[in-house]
Amino acid sequence: MPITPKVRYENHHLVVVVGHRNFFQDPWSSARHEQRLAVLDSAIEEIKRHVDDVWSVRKEFDRIEECPLCGRGWELDNEGLPSCCVEAIAEFKKEAEVVTV
Ligand SMILES: [Zn+2]
Repeated sequence: MPITPKVRYENHHLVVVVGHRNFFQDPWSSARHEQRLAVLDSAIEEIKRHVDDVWSVRKEFDRIEECPLCGRGWELDNEGLPSCCVEAIAEFKKEAEVVTV
């Protein structure tokens, strides 16, 4: 199986566009991604039901990729190799050898 980055989702928040600026903090920092999405969906429904003059309500969050071996951010260099740690590079090259054999 080829090496792939671990993925996590962060910074879940609502963007509520109403007639004035709105401040929103993320109180669910320890919740799982699906739980966060469910909370956002619930809040969206509540906003639609109770708030007048709502132009749009949408969910936004950051998608973070990290190396499954060292936990650092996942990036590939110019040669298409992971740039975070030697273990990921070795694993990547090992998998490439298996594919070409
Ligand atoms: Zn790594």
